[in-house]
Parts: sequence; structure tokens; C-alpha cells
Amino acid sequence: MGRGTDGVILKMWRADDYRLRVTSIEAITDRYQRIGFTGDGLLTDHPMHPTQFVRLWIPDAQTDKLHHRAYTVIDQNPIDDHFYIEFALHTGPASSWAQRAKIGDEIDASVLGSDYALPVDTPSEYLIFGDTASLPAINSLLEAIGDVPARVWLEWQYESDRELPVRNKPHHRVTWLQRVDNGRLLREQAQQITCPVDAYAWVSCDGHTTRSIVKTFKHAHKLPKPQLKYRAYWK
Ligand SMILES: Cc1cc2nc3c(=O)[nH]c(=O)nc-3n(C[C@H](O)[C@H](O)[C@H](O)COP(=O)(O)OP(=O)(O)OC[C@H]3O[C@@H](n4cnc5c(N)ncnc54)[C@H](O)[C@@H]3O)c2cc1C
Repeated sequence: MGRGTDGVILKMWRADDYRLRVTSIEAITDRYQRIGFTGDGLLTDHPMHPTQFVRLWIPDAQTDKLHHRAYTVIDQNPIDDHFYIEFALHTGPASSWAQRAKIGDEIDASVLGSDYALPVDTPSEYLIFGDTASLPAINSLLEAIGDVPARVWLEWQYESDRELPVRNKPHHRVTWLQRVDNGRLLREQAQQITCPVDAYAWVSCDGHTTRSIVKTFKHAHKLPKPQLKYRAYWK
């Protein structure tokens, strides 16, 4: 199957390639699928860190094309080279691959560009905006920040989304907001919050919402660049 231009670019940038194998499949909700994988040496070559992600090469159900999609790696066990990926289910090749996956199936993955580290200066508070696609990354972030307070706003699309496990501690306050008008409630929330000068914001929603929230942090809240991390997770 062909990787197309994405494959050529990743090769040029010397991405590492791995063949993952499915070890388990669990429906967390009707819209969320957790799949276990062995990593073919991935975790040996790429030590775990919060929000770690891989680029999966998703086979198209109809054609011989491969689609290139990023997914977060969680609950890593470097000794067994084993980890999990949680798929928010909607329409799309990656989503439908996750729904038809069986134990023993294999899928290729490339690793490039996943190198996040927590800020060196501990912020007074983390302000986190995301949705079900970035929830695995947010959970890894909440585990990593430990005792530092956080406020987390998560966007839900399906009723069952609000049952998804959020790994927050008592000092991490979580608010679910429904997705309406392509992310309006998240965008308004970002404008309304108090933002301490020494806070740190982490934003990963759909592209438009991410850009809008980032603009609010930069221009309305005047948050300095090093205190802001963002990446659009889908479009
Ligand atoms: C660094 C990184 C890590 C990520 N980690 C995860 C993860 O752990 N789990 C996860 O589920 N996603 C994750 N994503 C998001 C995922 O890569 C995208 O959602 C991707 O577009 C899904 O591919 P697809 O082939 O299923 O759908 P696509 O072919 O990309 O899109 C098909 C249709 O579905 C819509 N769509 C795509 N994604 C979503 C969504 N999340 N919600 C609603 N509609 C959507 C599109 O607008 C389009 O209409 C991550 C993205 C990045 C950049």
C-alpha cells in the first residue's frame, strides 16, 4: 500500500518506522475504543513522555491508499514494549480501522516530532482545553503535573463522552462543555476565565477552536509564548 507524499516527507525527516501488533480491544463507551499494542521496539528507541504520540499508517477499507494519522500513546510499559491507544470514534479511516481491528492485526507507525516536556518553571496553575481526541494526552499531562493545580475544559459531542475516565486529582477541576457551533462554548470559556500571569496553558481541540483559544491567551490574557503549548488535533 502507498504512503504518498506524507511518506516521502517523513522519510526525508528520518522518521523511525515500527510495525505495531494489536494485543487487546476494549470498548470504553459506544464512541470510544481502547486498543493495546506491542511496539516493535518503539518504546526502547523513544522513551515515554507526557502527550507522546505516533503517526499511524491507516489502510483504507476501499483503496490501497494509506492514511497518515497521529494518535497518543498511553499507559506505556517499556519493559514489555506495550502501550495503549484510545480512539474517539466518528467517521474516517482511522476511526473505522479501530472499529474493525482484531487481536493479532498489524499496523505500521512512524515516530517523528513527539518530544514534549513539562515547563521548567512550575506554573501556578495549568489551564487545559481539549476534547475526546486530546483526552488521552490530557490524562498523561494530569498524571505528570502531580500536585500543581489545573482547570480543564473538555468538549463533548456524544452523551457517553462525559462518562470517559478523566485522570484528575482533587486539585484538578474538570468541566465538560457541549460542542455547539463548532466549538463556540470552549472559545467563549477561554475568553471568560481568569488567567494568572504565571499560569501555563495547553490547548488541543479542532483547528479552528485551537487557533481561536490561542489568540485569546496571547492577546486578551497576554500569556507569554513560553507559557503556551498548543497543537490542533483534528480538522
Ligand atoms: C498529536 C496528536 C495526537 C492525537 N491523539 C489522538 C488520540 O489519542 N485519540 C483520538 O481519537 N484522536 C487523536 N488525535 C486526533 C486524530 O488524529 C484525528 O481525529 C484524525 O483526524 C482521525 O482520523 P480519521 O481518519 O478517523 O478521520 P479523518 O479522515 O481525519 O476525518 C473524517 C471526518 O471526521 C471528522 N473528525 C476527525 N476527527 C474527529 C474528532 N476527533 N471528532 C469529531 N470528528 C472528527 C473530520 O472533521 C471529518 O469530517 C490526535 C491528533 C494529534 C495531532
